[in-house]
Amino acid sequence: MKGIFPIDKLQRLQTPFYYYDAELLRNTLRVINDEAHKHEGFCVHYAVKANANPKVLRHIREAGLGADCVSGGEIEAAIRAGFPSSKIVFAGVGKADWEINLGLDHDIFCFNVESIPELEVINELAIAKSKTARVAFRLNPNVGAHTHANITTGLAENKFGIDMRDMLKVIEEARRMSNIRVVGLHFHIGSQILDMGDFEALCNRVNELQLELERHHIQIEHINVGGGLGIDYEHPNRVPLPDFRAYFDTYAKKLKLRPGQTLHFELGRAVVGQCGTLFTRALYIKVGSVKQFCIVDAGFTDLIRPALYQAYHKIENLSSDEPKETYDVVGPICESTDVFAKQTDLNRCHRGDLIAIRSAGAYGEIMASQYNCRRLPQGYMSDEI
Ligand SMILES: *Cc1c(COP(=O)(O)O)cnc(C)c1O
Repeated sequence: MKGIFPIDKLQRLQTPFYYYDAELLRNTLRVINDEAHKHEGFCVHYAVKANANPKVLRHIREAGLGADCVSGGEIEAAIRAGFPSSKIVFAGVGKADWEINLGLDHDIFCFNVESIPELEVINELAIAKSKTARVAFRLNPNVGAHTHANITTGLAENKFGIDMRDMLKVIEEARRMSNIRVVGLHFHIGSQILDMGDFEALCNRVNELQLELERHHIQIEHINVGGGLGIDYEHPNRVPLPDFRAYFDTYAKKLKLRPGQTLHFELGRAVVGQCGTLFTRALYIKVGSVKQFCIVDAGFTDLIRPALYQAYHKIENLSSDEPKETYDVVGPICESTDVFAKQTDLNRCHRGDLIAIRSAGAYGEIMASQYNCRRLPQGYMSDEI
């Protein structure tokens, strides 16, 4: 098992750092393309917020995916990585004027709009540039997802999207605006979703809304169903790829596309999650009265998911074959939440051991901070070390 990492090369690098398996990333992208392109009109974007490491972005751009951006900075990162602006989508509840202008200047494919006040600002800024902004309305489908409460987004109580009961009203309003063209509807129900039934529920809701639009003779070119497909955090070796076939087949079977319509996806975690590992070293083994701690040199400034969402990451000691012992794996930051795992079994740890925190390719490096004046972790691609 330890054979999946080039340990000798990794030993030479300063911890903590992220390591991305280029071969796994390429395989993942190949399967995504194979499975999506079985279905006519399917179009896959990558949600840049999951990981904007330029080397990771380059692989994804080379595979031909579009870029789903949620800030001006992400639009810039996507363009720097070579994504054509015709494949860039800009979403987010709070777009600042400069970010909208950036999107207009680059003639991006589409703005995903979340409120009427935002639409008015986009229209005004487009008028000032004599441009037409293509928009999709992000509707809140009020579909729950069986995932962590902090990462469900499709319920009426979430801040995201426009209430679907206002759908006709906002489309009518947009049609009166001179420099706006409505091209799509957009949805996103949450993240780390493994139950295809949740995506099915979204399909059913989209079908209902399409029928309602047709009753009012409104035709929509693009349906965007967001992302959210989860990965297997428990078994990164056994299940390195999410079930893309089941995912795309669910949409192909359940969502009734109209002739000529395209169906867009914005996958983040499912694309990059399993290819990334955070490498850290054991600094000290501290034996307390009731438990023992493995204190490592990575902290929540490097990987915040456990502290932020109580997320599970599989942890392995790559330097030891000794019998397993139970540890709390903790970082050096001055916060009690700086814990990667409680009561987890690792091969007996010693100072200097190389520890792998798995499935950290998504929402890992990109969420790193400098709290405690710490350095940001480096990110390495397997084919460059
Ligand atoms: C975060 C986000 C995504 C990607 O979510 P994943 O769970 O990483 O696939 C897609 N679309 C929107 C609108 C998002 O906010």
